[in-house]
Amino acid sequence: MTVSDHRLQDAIDTLKDSGVRITPQRHAVLEFLLNSMTHPTADEIYKALERKFPNMSVATVYNNLRVFREIGLVRELTYGDSSSRFDCNTSDHYHAICDSCGKIVDFHYPSLNEVESLAEQVTGFTVSHHRMEVYGTCSHCNAKTAH
Ligand SMILES: [Zn+2]
Ligand SMILES: [Zn+2]
Repeated sequence: MTVSDHRLQDAIDTLKDSGVRITPQRHAVLEFLLNSMTHPTADEIYKALERKFPNMSVATVYNNLRVFREIGLVRELTYGDSSSRFDCNTSDHYHAICDSCGKIVDFHYPSLNEVESLAEQVTGFTVSHHRMEVYGTCSHCNAKTAH
């Protein structure tokens, strides 16, 4: 068993424990997400799987992603535009985003808890979470423009 097989099995167990039926499409969406390190959009998942499941619609993909999100298997990253991206790495981590190709890369950094408590003091909010992103040009895009 590879690492992602283990993660897939864990995720399937979580779905079963939550009483979610495992359809072949649901299984495929989950597997694609777990194997993808790219934080895909629903559209990208749909395009990757449409040949295998000609009857599947983008709405089906969205529904599955919503179910996964409610159970806590994926995080939805909204960027205020058309498409949310989906992240199956639910451990605390931050993102580096390429301005040029839109790629999102995970990186780990100690969670910025002080920022949350300072924000609570200053604003009176009860802070639930935060997101931190750095932007720039990824190594792939840098290499493309280097020559
Ligand atoms: Zn890039
Ligand atoms: Zn991520």
